[in-house]
Amino acid sequence: MPDCLFCKIIDGTIPSEKIFENEEFLAFKDINPQSPVHILIIPKKHLAKLSDCGNDEKEILSGLLLTANNVAKEIGIAESGYRVAINSGDDGGQLVHHLHLHLMGGGKLDGRMA
Ligand code: AMP
Ligand code: ZN
Repeated sequence: MPDCLFCKIIDGTIPSEKIFENEEFLAFKDINPQSPVHILIIPKKHLAKLSDCGNDEKEILSGLLLTANNVAKEIGIAESGYRVAINSGDDGGQLVHHLHLHLMGGGKLDGRMA
């Protein structure tokens, strides 16, 4: 097991505000929210970054998006709208090296990602 912040959140060594959990994924509140709703969705399997993923990770990658959408529905922001983002690698601004998806919403978001 790598010395990984999000693996420690998964195993409970580091506390988090959990929003959703199943066998494969965990969703919890970002500690430094950039929007009224800012949730991180992570696979329980340690994968360092999106660019390490390939065909073997098809289910995990589709599951991340579907979990984000389900969480958005569950907390009532699916209709008002939300943004998902994945930072991969240094130029992408990735700070935590465990694949994670940002789910942001709960109000009009500033700026555009693209
Ligand atoms: P990234 O820059 O894409 O790697 O994003 C990492 C995110 O993890 C940032 O938005 C941080 O605020 C968030 N973060 C760091 N430590 C924690 C923590 N202990 N609990 C929840 N979120 C965290
Ligand atoms: Zn990890």
